Amino acid sequence: MRSALRSLALILTGASLFAGWPQTTPERTELRRTSTVAEVRAFMEALRKQAPGLEPYQPKGAPRATETGKPLLAWRLKGAGKDPLRVYVNANIHAGEVEGKEAIQQVLRELLQGKHPELRRNLDLVVMPAYNADGTDAQDPAIRSYQPNPTESGVGRRENAQGLDLNRDLMKVAAPNTRWLLAMLNEFDPAAVLDLHTTNGSTHGFHLTHGPACTMGADEGLLAFNRKMLVEVRERLKTEGMPTYDYGNFVPYRPTAEKPPTAWETYDAHPRLLTNYPALRNRLAVLSESYVYRSWPDRISDTRKFVLACLGWMVEHRNDVRSQVREAQDRWTAAWAKGPVSLPLSAKLKEVERYAFEWVDPIRDDKGHLTGEKGRTRLELPSFVGFEGQDFVDVPAGYLVDPAFVPRVLPVLQAHGLRVQLGTSRPKSLAVLHFQESGRKLAPGAYQGVFTLELQGAWKAEAPPKKQQAAWTPADLDRALYIPLDQPLGRLAFYLLDPRSSDSLVYWGAFHSALVRGDGMWGEPPRFPILAVGRGEVNAVSATPMSAPRTQE
Ligand SMILES: [Zn+2]
Repeated sequence: MRSALRSLALILTGASLFAGWPQTTPERTELRRTSTVAEVRAFMEALRKQAPGLEPYQPKGAPRATETGKPLLAWRLKGAGKDPLRVYVNANIHAGEVEGKEAIQQVLRELLQGKHPELRRNLDLVVMPAYNADGTDAQDPAIRSYQPNPTESGVGRRENAQGLDLNRDLMKVAAPNTRWLLAMLNEFDPAAVLDLHTTNGSTHGFHLTHGPACTMGADEGLLAFNRKMLVEVRERLKTEGMPTYDYGNFVPYRPTAEKPPTAWETYDAHPRLLTNYPALRNRLAVLSESYVYRSWPDRISDTRKFVLACLGWMVEHRNDVRSQVREAQDRWTAAWAKGPVSLPLSAKLKEVERYAFEWVDPIRDDKGHLTGEKGRTRLELPSFVGFEGQDFVDVPAGYLVDPAFVPRVLPVLQAHGLRVQLGTSRPKSLAVLHFQESGRKLAPGAYQGVFTLELQGAWKAEAPPKKQQAAWTPADLDRALYIPLDQPLGRLAFYLLDPRSSDSLVYWGAFHSALVRGDGMWGEPPRFPILAVGRGEVNAVSATPMSAPRTQE
């Protein structure tokens, strides 16, 4: 009798099928498979039949599909309360990291079932469970075979069908997925973006690691608030028996008994990453990394718990979230009234605290699969989970882009939502400044399909003397694009357009025909395709290169 009652209780609490609620693909298949794009859509359609509120979401003018025709599908669940907080949750940008895709479907079902009334009332959610739609459907048991996986389907592919890592595409906007995302940010304008991943890296004792935006050049107050949110979420989850910490890896990356860990380090301060990009727009972000060596159902359940904890914190602090975002925006506007605004061209890792870590010494089988633990060592280590800006420069009033590059550059600037004007509207009281290049590094190997270009130099009132170089005529200046930095997205405009920025359109090759002249291009030299407008003579900098990425989440 007792066991019968227990079974009944399990059915009532666990299997949602009982009440007609849809099940996710892992739930339906006893964990043998993860969802395809079509299965996500079928689940969402079934949810919509069960309860009102969930609607398909498509930002105006955004692509509806990837290059191969896979649909880009998102849904919106708008809270019934007064002025709900807008939040966007992204999953499967790396489609081998499938846990977020499954967890967010469960979270939406629970919200519609009335299990989290505070969240249901006070959140206006947009979710895209299968952001990398091509990778989502390219499932293969051979992918990420070092982790416990759904046995039948395996998991999807990291990159999109063109071979691009979509989590490096936020600035250059090469993929339709990115154009969709930027259109969503411009239209829906969430206060926070959550992006759900799974680690590949260190064997640590946390169930999940997470990160706030760590963006070079973003508002320091907002970054500090972003960190505070995750420290408080971490402490709350700890009391519930779920150890979590800032995303990172041990140094050295693969410690041994002879070379044990000496530090913990996070990853990258570039805005090309989805969880760094929103901070340049004065918005919050959360990176979630379920732990690769937890079991497959545990990884889903950890991600679900973490997402709910973050959403809970944001709802509880929603007035604070709103005022922090507004104040960051106001500080940027106010800075222009005070005189030269300066921003960093690079960033270095910063020790934020010392923390007690558990280094897990794993047992691996002959194929390298982790099958158990030899033991755990408790270590207090310096934790480098933040960045400090360096190589600060005074930013100009704006940039002019050569009319010859308008077809290539304008669509990218517009996708970002920047205010772009004609050169005729540049402030005529200020000087037109020319870039004096003092050094360059053209990458010897390609990165995301581009031989990237890092330039050093300074803006000067005189054009560098170069024989036969095409001059800028007054008509050229008038026909150029003018992008003022004194606009709400001015920080973003700086990192896209300053030739010294290591995430700029120069870096990503948009101007290579003018800036990278191979031996076969022997004619008259073209002019430098970007000018600045400003007060003249700003500091020259030889930017310190960012530390080389050690790993990829
Ligand atoms: Zn990832």
